[in-house]
Amino acid sequence: MSNTDFVLAVEDLTVSFDGFKAIDNLTIYVDKNELRVIIGPNGAGKTTLLDLICGKTRASTGSIKFKNLEMTKLPEYEIVRKGIGRKFQTPSIYENLSVFQNLEVSFPRGRGVFGALAFRCTDDVKSRVMAVAAEIGLDQHLEFEAGLLSHGQKQWLEIGMLLMQDPELLMLDEPIAGMSVRERELTAELLQRICKGRSVIVIEHDMEFVKKIAHKVTVMHQGKILAEGSMEQVQNDPKVIDVYLGH
Ligand code: ADP
Ligand code: MG
Repeated sequence: MSNTDFVLAVEDLTVSFDGFKAIDNLTIYVDKNELRVIIGPNGAGKTTLLDLICGKTRASTGSIKFKNLEMTKLPEYEIVRKGIGRKFQTPSIYENLSVFQNLEVSFPRGRGVFGALAFRCTDDVKSRVMAVAAEIGLDQHLEFEAGLLSHGQKQWLEIGMLLMQDPELLMLDEPIAGMSVRERELTAELLQRICKGRSVIVIEHDMEFVKKIAHKVTVMHQGKILAEGSMEQVQNDPKVIDVYLGH
């Protein structure tokens, strides 16, 4: 297959679970610095698609290229190292550690032969922690115990932990579930900031939120792509209204 300028090129991807195709010959391309939102009814295959991209689930057939490199055979940790970060629906932060410590432990280390021994300059780590804390709006909470943060703040902290790795592609599965109205607004602003230097894929149901953040929207249904385009295009697409928005 040919090289592309896309950060992510998923082509003819299929995964079957006991004969059931959760992803069915799906093709999707994501641009550099693009914020793509994926919507669709429950069971459409949205989460499974992210599982495939991050290597948690193995494809039956098809290709997933990240910066023109084939990812389908790589182990999960290699995919992370190549620059793909993924946030799951439930936050997995260290509740007993402070915000600072949570970010600090997420700093990538041990990449080389002497990895485990190689000392990072602590000032390096510290300045990275400070920058990320500011980006996620938790710079006033550095010494705060993570377990005591609000639900929204925990979600931002986990995004921050991913940002510590400086991924070129960040994938978020329903990041605003359970958030207050104010937290949703702040999350929209956060996502708009973090897609400036990287590509972001967000799975979300809240259409007001999608409208605020999406550069382009992909609608999935039964493991396939039902529609793709601007928010306005997909909102007015009769197929989309029929299977998703009409309900
Ligand atoms: P969505 O995130 O769009 O709601 P999912 O990707 O979670 O949808 O699920 C798509 C379909 O694939 C569902 O019917 C689900 O039951 C099925 N599925 C997902 N993962 C597995 C698995 N590991 N084994 C069997 N079936 C699965
Ligand atoms: Mg899901």
